[in-house]
Amino acid sequence: MRLSIVVPCYNEAANIDELYRQLDHVAARIEGLVEFVFVDDGSRDATCEKLKELAVKDPRVRVISFSRNFGHQAALSAGMDYATGDAVVVMDADLQHPPEMILQFLEKWREGYELVYAYREGVKPRWGYRIINALMKVRIPPEAADFRLMDRRLVDAFKSMPERARFIRGMISWLGFRQIGLGYQQRERFAGERAYTLRQTVRMAVNAVLAFSSMPLRVAAVMGICTLVLGFLYAVYVLYAYVAGIPMEKGWASLLIAILFLGGVQLLCLGLIAEYIGRIFDEVKQRPLYVVREHVPPRALGSAQVQEVTHRNGADGQTREAVRLQNPDEAERL
Ligand code: UDP
Ligand code: MG
Repeated sequence: MRLSIVVPCYNEAANIDELYRQLDHVAARIEGLVEFVFVDDGSRDATCEKLKELAVKDPRVRVISFSRNFGHQAALSAGMDYATGDAVVVMDADLQHPPEMILQFLEKWREGYELVYAYREGVKPRWGYRIINALMKVRIPPEAADFRLMDRRLVDAFKSMPERARFIRGMISWLGFRQIGLGYQQRERFAGERAYTLRQTVRMAVNAVLAFSSMPLRVAAVMGICTLVLGFLYAVYVLYAYVAGIPMEKGWASLLIAILFLGGVQLLCLGLIAEYIGRIFDEVKQRPLYVVREHVPPRALGSAQVQEVTHRNGADGQTREAVRLQNPDEAERL
């Protein structure tokens, strides 16, 4: 069994040491090989250097460094692209996701679940997620975090989804597979500030809705039909009033209202269509989701025993020998 733990990091220098300490602790209790995949999403602080230091110290660490900030969803995608495990865990770098939970994930995975996701207990999900869930019939509950274990089969299926506008939670839900949720208490961030800006959050919500349904296009059509019906009824009334000799107003106000209303509806529909066209444009450009500047592959994947040797001897020849004996399939990487 080989487990990959994927962690996207954006300006998380202050969290990495503690995160690694806790992950290392958890990894020691896992039977099988463990790989840490850290994705540096174009951080402007010392994150990248810190991660590379870890890679020197610990042969199980893989570091992927982006050429600039591509966003959380792209970083997660990269982590899943590079991860080699039979199971892949993704989690945040800020220690809001308790690393010990990975052990529970693994238990469920061994029971046969292909997707084990964590959801925050006793937390009202952000309104954005609630709307998305309602609109898109996402099966994963809105309080689910970006903290989950995925089976290799699910990861491979995910990698075959090429879309650029990414809303990973929705994509995973779309994939299906046998899934189960586990509750946890969300902690405060260990250090640093929340990286997501309001703009990014709104962007993701819009992405989620537009990428997963063409419902807004239908809204445009429905609005068009409603205005047509209203206009028709009004025309009937005017005709009736004329025939019945009801004295009529001059009608400027109603005329103006009708024009403004129609203009508004038309512009809105145009804007909606433009959103979709923009997305089609983005997709047909077929740009990569992210650009990697540097990739440090793991020198060896270790089980708990190997790790002990590593710690005792440091990263010298002896350690490598021990690692080699333990994992002959990894030998060519050394
Ligand atoms: N993150 C990232 N790229 C970004 C923004 C965030 O890789 O552009 C990472 C960040 O380092 C963290 C995770 O995504 O590991 C979640 O970010 P954050 O804690 O800011 O979001 P929240 O937990 O508040 O939803
Ligand atoms: Mg966070």
